Amino acid sequence: MGEAKDNDAYEEELLDYEEDEEKAPDSAAAKATGEAVKKGYVGIHSSGFRDFLLKPELLRAIVDSGFEHPSEGKHFLQHECIPQAILGMDVICQAKSGMGKTAVFVLSALQQIDPVPGQVSALVLCHTRELAYQICHEFERFSTYLTDIKVAVFYGGVHITKHKDILKNDCPHIVVGTPGRILALSRDKDLSLKNVRHFILDECDKMLESLDMRRDVQEIFKMTPHDKQVMMFSATLSKEIRPVCKKFMQDPMEIYVDDEAKLTLHGLVQHYIKLSELEKNRKLNDLLDALDFNQVVIFVKSVSRAAELNKLLTECNFPSICIHSGMSQEERLTRYKGFKEGHKRILVATDLVGRGIDIERVNIVINYDMPDSADTYLHRVGRAGRFGTKGLAITFVSSASDSDVLNQVQERFEVDIKELPEQIDASTYMPS
Ligand code: ADP
Repeated sequence: MGEAKDNDAYEEELLDYEEDEEKAPDSAAAKATGEAVKKGYVGIHSSGFRDFLLKPELLRAIVDSGFEHPSEGKHFLQHECIPQAILGMDVICQAKSGMGKTAVFVLSALQQIDPVPGQVSALVLCHTRELAYQICHEFERFSTYLTDIKVAVFYGGVHITKHKDILKNDCPHIVVGTPGRILALSRDKDLSLKNVRHFILDECDKMLESLDMRRDVQEIFKMTPHDKQVMMFSATLSKEIRPVCKKFMQDPMEIYVDDEAKLTLHGLVQHYIKLSELEKNRKLNDLLDALDFNQVVIFVKSVSRAAELNKLLTECNFPSICIHSGMSQEERLTRYKGFKEGHKRILVATDLVGRGIDIERVNIVINYDMPDSADTYLHRVGRAGRFGTKGLAITFVSSASDSDVLNQVQERFEVDIKELPEQIDASTYMPS
């Protein structure tokens, strides 16, 4: 292919296998036609905060906060939850702290509230004063440009008359508080809950496991209208407490995340194929002909294999391109952009492309060569079925060490990866 090998600084940061001099793929094995070029696919929509169609004032505050794309990094929980939450769906969500749960309910409440003077529209309960204070602060931060929306925090230890004054003279639209104080204020009729449309419990298990607190929460809940959105969040949600939570909700969206990996793999159909090295090209050809895809990434373990496989696919009229560390950075970038813009539908790549890139239309990843570890697997297949959308990952297994890695993947991510069936229904992996 004649790409110059330049070891620029960029390359050093990239994860790539050392080039090994493996045999070039057997080109005689592959025969296909340009018919594989399928047209008319609808791209997966990009899913930044902008695409959630949030209020411009809210977006501005999000930008100010330096928030990253919700499907990137550890915050892709937001990508799963926010679209549902802003439609008013009930949500029950367990994810370890720091995964962005607070932002889910803060942003979705702010998005939905049309402030009416003198009416409390959202009530957030949590079990400690510190947490209440912190949540209130998040509401303030994100409502900077929503100047009509007022937030207040009420917890014990502060003179109750102060809270009563606020409710009387400067009634907030969002109230954050601990159950004891909120109950006291509502019993005294200073706090009217009859207009509450969003009822949120943070660290819900803490509140519902303690019977005293549960009683308070229930009493508060009963004072709110029947027709409202209920959202509950916690870092821990035992199987026992989940039904208790769900009693407060109607057909909630349930999301339980023990670690990021599980969420990353959510929506992704995963299969393996056992075959010999020599059978790989034939199989790949069949797959590319048979499967429905918007775009596909095929991962190989070395630069030479990337170049060879791409050559082979191109010769067979597949709309293919390759990217690897044997190219100049400029060349890589041009190719990457071209692929991202959809000029080609098949990308053959080394792990150079395994990490951190974001190509919305990729719905199939094929591991032509097994990744070296479960982590690499996760990074690669994360390209397909991006959070919340469907996708398909197919892994070729051709040696005992390949099987070992596959087993590690299954253990680490608690998934049961089955052999690719004869027929696979496109609706299981094609994003709608
Ligand atoms: P949790 O409630 O799950 O503990 P938080 O919502 O408090 O998590 O988020 C943890 C931290 O990450 C906070 O400092 C928050 O501002 C920040 N954060 C949340 N979402 C994003 C995002 N999309 N991009 C960048 N930072 C974020």
